[in-house]
Amino acid sequence: MANVIVIGSYVTDLMTLTPHLPKPGETVLGGPFQMGPGGKGANQATAAARSGSHVTYMTKLGTDIFGEQALQYFKNEGMNVDYIKQDPTEITGTAQIIVDQHSENSIAVALGACGKITKEDVYATEEKFKGSDIALVQFETSMEAIQTTIELASKHHVPLILNPAPYRDFPKELLTKVSYITPNEIEASELSGIKVIDELSARKAAERIYEMGIPHIIITMGKQGVYLYTGEGTGELIPAFSVHAIDTTGAGDAFSGGLAHSLAAGKELKESIRYANAVAALCVTKLGTAPAMPHKEQVEHFLK
Ligand code: ADP
Repeated sequence: MANVIVIGSYVTDLMTLTPHLPKPGETVLGGPFQMGPGGKGANQATAAARSGSHVTYMTKLGTDIFGEQALQYFKNEGMNVDYIKQDPTEITGTAQIIVDQHSENSIAVALGACGKITKEDVYATEEKFKGSDIALVQFETSMEAIQTTIELASKHHVPLILNPAPYRDFPKELLTKVSYITPNEIEASELSGIKVIDELSARKAAERIYEMGIPHIIITMGKQGVYLYTGEGTGELIPAFSVHAIDTTGAGDAFSGGLAHSLAAGKELKESIRYANAVAALCVTKLGTAPAMPHKEQVEHFLK
């Protein structure tokens, strides 16, 4: 079985559909409203678990009602919750999401407990790194948690996928310990200093990121697909699947989670990207983030 360890965020998504995104000071009447599990880490862990990986998830929750619901959620999804911490002095994270009729979104996040994961919390999972095929981390938690995850993966020779979202400053020397990076266009632009808008600019950005010490650069480009670069003479745009998108929130998470599963299962990189594109395509046909992640059977059927 493919073993994946994910360290990252959990937030309760509070999502409202509106005719348009509110301007500053404006109240927009909307609906329907949906509440459910989210946060980049939790979304990615869900995508990997529903694809069939055995996922160990490490995050930090409050002891409030949202935290209790979260713990139950991870158990229901069949994840190993042994390393999830609950901090009575913090709130469980929340994300207030507004999605308009064009499926554009705007999001405000209060990370709460999951923004306070310490290096000791991550070190407590060290045993689990030893048996993992892939480690996965995002930028939606404390920098010390991210740094410790990357260092533990490196120490135990576990390939690590870094999804640098949402983008923030970080010690660049960490990149030499990262095996795969999955920025979207905005994050790739921030990281490389080259504005990514098309295939040519994606290539230039990927070359720049490759020089920072990462062997596999995978820039996600929405409905265009992904740009893959693995060194001089390589570089190609792998197209996305054509679907009717309803809500693109969580697309990048679906992609990284799907990629983690497929690589952990021992599949080749290009085949894994195709699999991850399918997971993401199915995700955008549904409302929500974690609950929109497809199950293995749906992905396999879609790929037939
Ligand atoms: P993020 O959600 O981080 O901004 P992207 O928008 O780049 O990430 O989307 C990630 C992946 O999701 C894409 O590489 C693609 O595989 C898939 N995807 C996103 N939008 C669509 C779409 N409209 N149709 C099909 N696939 C999509």
